[in-house]
Amino acid sequence: MERGESYKPYRIKMVEPISVPTRTERKELIRAAGYNVFNLNADDIYVDLLTDSGTGAMSQAQWAAMLLGDESYAGSRSFARFQETTHDIFGFSHILPTHQGRAAENVLFSSLVRPGHIIPNNMHFDTTRANIIANGGEPVDLVIDEAYEPRTDLPFKGNMDTAKLEALIDEVGVERIPLIMITITNNSGGGEPVSVANIRAVSEIAHSHGIPFFIDACRYAENAFFIREREEGYGDKEPIEIAREIFSLADGMTMSAKKDGLANIGGILAMNDEAIFAAARERLILMEGFPTYGGLAGRDLDAIAVGLREALELSYLRDRIGQTRYLGERLKEAGIPIIEPIGGHAVYIDALGLLHGFSQSQFPALSIVVALYEHAGVRAVEIGSVMFAHPDENGNVVYPRLELVRLAIPRRMYTRTHLDAVVDGMAEVADMRNDLPGYEITEGSGPLRHFIARFKQVPRR
Ligand SMILES: *Cc1c(COP(=O)(O)O)cnc(C)c1O
Repeated sequence: MERGESYKPYRIKMVEPISVPTRTERKELIRAAGYNVFNLNADDIYVDLLTDSGTGAMSQAQWAAMLLGDESYAGSRSFARFQETTHDIFGFSHILPTHQGRAAENVLFSSLVRPGHIIPNNMHFDTTRANIIANGGEPVDLVIDEAYEPRTDLPFKGNMDTAKLEALIDEVGVERIPLIMITITNNSGGGEPVSVANIRAVSEIAHSHGIPFFIDACRYAENAFFIREREEGYGDKEPIEIAREIFSLADGMTMSAKKDGLANIGGILAMNDEAIFAAARERLILMEGFPTYGGLAGRDLDAIAVGLREALELSYLRDRIGQTRYLGERLKEAGIPIIEPIGGHAVYIDALGLLHGFSQSQFPALSIVVALYEHAGVRAVEIGSVMFAHPDENGNVVYPRLELVRLAIPRRMYTRTHLDAVVDGMAEVADMRNDLPGYEITEGSGPLRHFIARFKQVPRR
């Protein structure tokens, strides 16, 4: 093995037993769950690819750091370590811990966003969208058009369309835009990366209008890895150098430490501006806790401080992105259409590409998710009409442009054996594509219905 090649940068010291119910049992379990995988017990799942959020394995160094946690209410040593690491990587003058990414968003937006405000992003994640709406603002997605084409291969398919951004600023006016955001990688658009050039261009537009520019940084380390691989001039830079350059272009950030913080809980809000900080700190004390623990235990701050550095190690990133690529490439070999290029944290199956002519009103992506559980005990998640179809002003249902099944890979958790089981299960599902049933909602409504809805099987039209 040569230096720079990928290898498995860890071995297993502690194991968590899992089991596999029989196929007959799985059919009964998913029926009893109303065909909604959110209603399944984790014990009844073999490979759980529901999300990569907070589900990863921590390292021995993280567990050891947790034992040093200082649970003082104010000014703990744990906060000092958290602050030292986050300042070193992100460089912002003010750093506030929060219990999750969405709490960082709510603290920030409730400080900045007022009714009538518009907040542009390449693509808002569900929680940023919901937190902006909850504070009276309107989230707007300005990602490049190619992001909506499943098989258009571009190195930075998460980029924002800067012409759309300038047009929006011209149209609505600077006063109505309290901040501009960009999400790296673009979770809602396939986990696709954003280039430094694009981040710089958005930063320049924001600053030329005096608008603060914030990064939704959940998967910034994965994004830095793609930049190193694909953007000219970055091939021999360390991920941490790339990260520092990215954040030097922004005025602040929100982040879920459950992603590239390699922790099971936690979030980060950071900024340079004194006035925004003063407002956010006040909100934080009300909503999360004192600014040196912000909704977390001291030991969690230590786990995050160590995890942030581990997530920037090249050996870790090669293994991480390598697993996602392995799963995606093997699915392609099996003839399963996926979103390309393969992103950082998940593989997205293009349900309408697999099930031609399956009406979106009968939930094709859900049909694949249920069949994959029945066949292989794998939990995937529907990102299609169950999640996004909604009525327009006239009561007609608007369906999403993409109907997807997401297979999100928890960090440092599964082996190739597990991923192979996913591929074999999907190949079986593809073989019976013409026999998959349609679904109808029997319970649940509104924008968050995907978490709670129940369904029944119906014949395909
Ligand atoms: C997960 C995520 C969030 C929200 O973080 P939570 O810790 O789940 O609250 C925000 N933005 C993006 C892009 C995410 O992936």
